[in-house]
Parts: sequence; C-alpha cells; structure tokens
Amino acid sequence: MTLRSLVLASALVLFGLPASSRAAERPARIVVDPGHGGAQEGATSPSGLLEKDISLQIAQRVREHLEKELGAQVLMTRDEDQSLPLPERVEFSNKQRPDLFLSIHCNAMPTKRTRARVQGLETYFLSASASNATARAAADRENAEAPTSRGARGDSTLAFILHDLARTEAHQDSSRLAYAIHQKLVAATGGSDRGVLQAPFYVLNGVEAPAVLIEVGYLSHPEEGARLGRPEHQEKLATAIAEGVRGFLAEVRKRDAPKPAQVAAPATP
Ligand SMILES: [Zn+2]
Repeated sequence: MTLRSLVLASALVLFGLPASSRAAERPARIVVDPGHGGAQEGATSPSGLLEKDISLQIAQRVREHLEKELGAQVLMTRDEDQSLPLPERVEFSNKQRPDLFLSIHCNAMPTKRTRARVQGLETYFLSASASNATARAAADRENAEAPTSRGARGDSTLAFILHDLARTEAHQDSSRLAYAIHQKLVAATGGSDRGVLQAPFYVLNGVEAPAVLIEVGYLSHPEEGARLGRPEHQEKLATAIAEGVRGFLAEVRKRDAPKPAQVAAPATP
C-alpha cells in the first residue's frame, strides 16, 4: 500500500462514515444543570435544606457516575453556589453541542397540608402545555427566575415554545430520555411514582438537544425532604439517573447506527 492510498484509506475511515456511526464511537457529551444557585435558593425543606445545595450535590454525583461508568464528557452549568440566569444555562448548553441535557431540581408544595402529604418523583420534558395541575405548578415555580419579557404564561410564550419545538428534532428523544431515567429512578429508590410529565419549562425551551428536568423529590415533605439531604439517597438517585442515560444512549445509538445492508447498498437501485 502506497503512502497515498494509506492516506486515502484513513480519510475514508475518518470522514467517509455517516456522522451517527462516528458519534457512536466518541464519548457522550452531557450538560448537567443544577437548579438555582446564589440568591436563588429554590425550595426549602422543613429543616432548612435548600434546593440550590441539594441539586448541586446530586448533580456532582451524577457527573461522577457519568464520567466513571459511561466515560462521558460532562459539562456543568454551575459547579458552585452561584447565581446563573436561565437564559445563560440554555446558551451555555447550546455552545457545548451536547448529546443531552439534564436539569436537576427538587420539588415543593405550597400549603402546610400538601407539604405534609405530597412526595415522589417527577421527570419532565418540554411541551407547550402542562400535563396536569402538578406539572403546571412545577413549571410556574421553576420558571419564576425566567426573564419577565418571556414570562412563564401567555400567548407569546406559547408561540415561542411552539416555534422552538418545530425547530428542534430533539423533542421525541427528550420523551425517550425522560422515560428511561424515570423508570430507573422509581426502581432504585422505591419512591412514589408521580410520572413522566410535560410542561413549558423555560430552561428546557431552546436547548438544542434531548433535554429533561428531573424533580428528584419533594424537599417540602418532612421525610422525603430529609432523605434528599442524605449522601446514600443522593447516591441512589445519581446512580439511577446515570443508568437511565446509559439506556437512552444505547437505544438511540442502536437506532441511529447504519444497518450493514444500508451501508453496502448503492443509493439508487
Ligand atoms: Zn427548582
């Protein structure tokens, strides 16, 4: 083999394969977004745990598992207690061109009676309208930090989201990702299964990758709130999230991989 043919063959190997085939060989690139931070504390537990701290702790554990077990490249929107506006999280993510985006949050109920009663896991992906009252409330709470010009309610927001849904092809995969993670979370923790839900979350809108927002539990519940602060429970959650991501990536890579017959066959019969 001459040097020239060797170079040509190498070029063919490097550039001649479909993008999805090359994608299957490189490490996954994942953006992990711990909710809130700085002055934006998010929800609070009865004993005073803050969502901004719990979401960061769990996100850091998720990163560890994704790096160690999947060999993924993980990029955090924040890795310390800092304020980070929602638009900057979206902008950061899109610059990274990730394979997927995970936003990690804790939920909360507004009244004494519901705080005492409601606990469990919810996993969200973006939609223009909320699945139910729970989803509506979660989106309203998490969108409270969004810029007011693109407020969480109203026709302009709806149009904005619909435009974005049309633009992105990642929406179907967001649903797949949500189910893959949610299943693992419920199985690993035995937590109350409040379902995979859809809602107009600001931070999911505009992310140009499969994107989910995970409410890992109700910080406002006396027992679940305390549990969310414990390292062993955080580990369970982080392990389950990483397993869900692994399952999702395996599924889409298998789907997107070129079938041998398709690769060999000419474009036209
Ligand atoms: Zn939150």
